[in-house]
Amino acid sequence: MQNNHKEHLYKILVIGDLGVGKTSIIKRYVHQNFSPNYRATIGVDFALKVLNWDHETVRLQLWDIAGQERFGNMTRVYYREAMGAFIVFDMTRPSSFEAVTNWKEDLDSKLTLANGKNVAAVLLANKCDQGQDVLTNNGIQMEKFCQENGFVGWYETSAKVRTGVERLKHIIANENDFLQ
Ligand code: GDP
Ligand code: MG
Repeated sequence: MQNNHKEHLYKILVIGDLGVGKTSIIKRYVHQNFSPNYRATIGVDFALKVLNWDHETVRLQLWDIAGQERFGNMTRVYYREAMGAFIVFDMTRPSSFEAVTNWKEDLDSKLTLANGKNVAAVLLANKCDQGQDVLTNNGIQMEKFCQENGFVGWYETSAKVRTGVERLKHIIANENDFLQ
């Protein structure tokens, strides 16, 4: 019998302003834990999440930027060969939401897929456990915002209480946006 099991390795970027919870989301997703201690990481780090399906193994390499957020612009090298991106903002901090379009523009200006398209980007509204919602408070229509700014979708997440984080797997599995 021939073994038709396929293996893939996908690089996924996790970007957004400092302190929005990028490292926490990755930790929650990959290691199922959360630490309330703020620790700004320095350099670039990545975590591996392995997803096993019947005939397929997908290794997601989640790239975590660390410390470079404050300098605004990432290098082209960092973005290179990514298959998708999560752009994260903090629901309690309006400036981090305003920065989302800058992150998206930076990403699109430095990375184009082989088919000429922009890389699929999903917006994550993190810290939804805090009960402060900059979106509702400011009457922001997220569906419309995503359409206008080229996001494939958005999800509320909380690295703290786990909301939405498991769903990242389904975004990747079902929508196939990262696998184009
Ligand atoms: P990063 O700079 O984007 O990597 O952000 P971190 O992951 O280091 O998180 C910054 C701070 O926010 C830390 O103190 C985290 O514990 C906290 N944090 C991250 N995600 C959440 C969340 O979903 N809810 C709450 N309440 N705090 C969070
Ligand atoms: Mg971090």
